[in-house]
Amino acid sequence: MRDFVAKRAKTLPYSGIREIFDLAGKLEDVIHFEIGEPDFDTPEPIVQGAFRGAMAGMTHYTGSAGLQELREKIAGKLSDETGVLFNADNVVVTAGGMEALLLTMFVTLDEKDEVIFPSPHWPNYPAHVLLAGGKYKKLPLAAAHAFKPSIEALERIVTNDTKMLLINYPHNPTGAVLEREDLEAIAKFAVARDLLVCTDEAYETIIFDGRKFLSIAALDGMQERTIIIRTFSKTYAMTGWRIGYIVAPEDIAKRAAKLHEHTSACTSSISQMGALAALEMADTVSRSMVEKYESRRDIVIDALKDVRGLSVFEPRGTFYAFVDISSFGMSSFDLSRRLLEQARVAVAPGSAFGKEGEGFIRICFANSAENIKRGLDRMNRVFREMG
Ligand code: PMP
Repeated sequence: MRDFVAKRAKTLPYSGIREIFDLAGKLEDVIHFEIGEPDFDTPEPIVQGAFRGAMAGMTHYTGSAGLQELREKIAGKLSDETGVLFNADNVVVTAGGMEALLLTMFVTLDEKDEVIFPSPHWPNYPAHVLLAGGKYKKLPLAAAHAFKPSIEALERIVTNDTKMLLINYPHNPTGAVLEREDLEAIAKFAVARDLLVCTDEAYETIIFDGRKFLSIAALDGMQERTIIIRTFSKTYAMTGWRIGYIVAPEDIAKRAAKLHEHTSACTSSISQMGALAALEMADTVSRSMVEKYESRRDIVIDALKDVRGLSVFEPRGTFYAFVDISSFGMSSFDLSRRLLEQARVAVAPGSAFGKEGEGFIRICFANSAENIKRGLDRMNRVFREMG
């Protein structure tokens, strides 16, 4: 019999985070720091909004770009935040940031078109680019530079085939945040090289120490070459609702909506009603989640900062701590397995985020303060034995 599976399907990588998660599933009493999702349930006003919508008959297909009212709200929010004007025609509501990224790649990349993204990186980017028929190059990030992209390094790897720069901040997995001057340098580079910038802003509100999020789309000359990817998953604790969106120049947004018609027709109408309620909800609800993440961040830093052999980059956003474990002379996967077996704590091996992540582990602190303290205590016992 013929092999019915396409080559494309065979090249999709297996996630290193999944591997640890699957191993953890075979053990008891494991504390989970490997999977990246809020531990909070979705705030009640959002659930109520979706429920009320469903009861009122909002259970049909919506337009493929999403509900007009939701798109208008999103456009208003982005206009307020960036100071540049967006309208509903710039917005496509998608099944999470995941689908937003995939649609973006399909709509913008031709064969041979190259995307550059910093690495370590969110593990799904390579698959998104490759599935769309493009290719990618990684821009290595270093802890010594606060995991910020270097323009000189960009200059060295950019080619005539480069079409898109894909950036992500607050950054998964390092927790790095770009400041205005970093964004200005990237914007200048993008304009000089005539590049499209895709900015993955999945963690846009989860930002610490009084910082305020700034989208690169807000900078001069950037709106027409920027695609913003956002999601309700992290900022509103809505991972299971599968809802996010693209904000893009109208031509790109229109084509993404057209493509959406062929993939899922539209995003779940009930999730869209939930998203509408999320945007109408008082800021204080999501702010209180961010305050908790920030205080948990402090617990993690406090617990790890004096452990021999570790070096911890203090996250400025997200709910991840990226910890340098290279002094132990073990691969990040072997160390993660050891922590799982000996401490019953699951962490994500840095190698899951590209080879530039080797020598690190990622600890997700979207977990209760009590679990974080218990988990770190157990881990530190193993580190002490190794150190
Ligand atoms: N971008 C980044 C950097 C992420 O970490 C995630 C989720 N882990 C996403 C996008 C997509 O999330 P979702 O599909 O749930 O919106």
